[in-house]
Amino acid sequence: MWKILLSRLTQGHRTVAYPDEPPSLPPRFRGHPTIDSTRCPEDCRQCVDSCPTDAITKDERGLALDLGRCLFCTDCTDSCPEGAIRFTTEHRMAARTRHDLVVRSGMIDRVRALDGKMLRLFRRSLKLRQVSAGGCNGCEADVNVLGTIVFDLGRFGIQMVASPRHADGLLVTGPVTENMKLALKKTYDAVPPPKIVIAVGACAISGGPHAGHDEVHDGAASVVPVDLFIPGCPPHPFTILDGLLGLLDRLGPDRTAPRGAQLTER
Ligand code: SF4
Repeated sequence: MWKILLSRLTQGHRTVAYPDEPPSLPPRFRGHPTIDSTRCPEDCRQCVDSCPTDAITKDERGLALDLGRCLFCTDCTDSCPEGAIRFTTEHRMAARTRHDLVVRSGMIDRVRALDGKMLRLFRRSLKLRQVSAGGCNGCEADVNVLGTIVFDLGRFGIQMVASPRHADGLLVTGPVTENMKLALKKTYDAVPPPKIVIAVGACAISGGPHAGHDEVHDGAASVVPVDLFIPGCPPHPFTILDGLLGLLDRLGPDRTAPRGAQLTER
């Protein structure tokens, strides 16, 4: 007994202060990219051609990077001698629509909260059923991390549950393989309305590196309506947590600083 109390005293409080304080992320962390199309020579398409998931496009307005397809592999930055694309340490990247995930310059907008009845119902208590729809388990690992004492997801009233009938929504990972399509649809149908769906990771948003394959349905939105997209491969737990808290309007007025206010480019 005394040993346990002593070890608790020695260990202290391990849960991060986020969102009251900004997260501490290492300089090598690859977060929200910034794009400066003015650096691009007119006929250069090296970053477009180097991207393994066709996340980058170039038109008369310059470069556009789809965070929903990006694997954060940095092949584009490595291929660009002009430094037109850089990755920052900004972890906040979640968005309510696919369109909002396309970056041209600056940072994408802060995630929009649920409104009306949905917000009233879920703001202080959100139960999610996780569906692994054919992914590699990388995203699941980072979702699991949210349950540890470091992040302590339960302090926000958010909890993973075993049955869709006990859930308020689904958290989907993986590109939705043909084998998992029916399971995802049945699990969605088993959640009582009103319900939400959260797509976590490039695979669940767009199919990721598997997009276009005959056995893959290119993300959760092809089967069920998605309310929140959280990019990454896999997303950092802080990116997932920011998306969830933003959706539930739990970040507060003092945390509305524009994205990129404190970031390091690499
Ligand atoms: S970091 Fe993203 S945009 Fe750049 S090459 Fe890799 S997948 Fe494409």
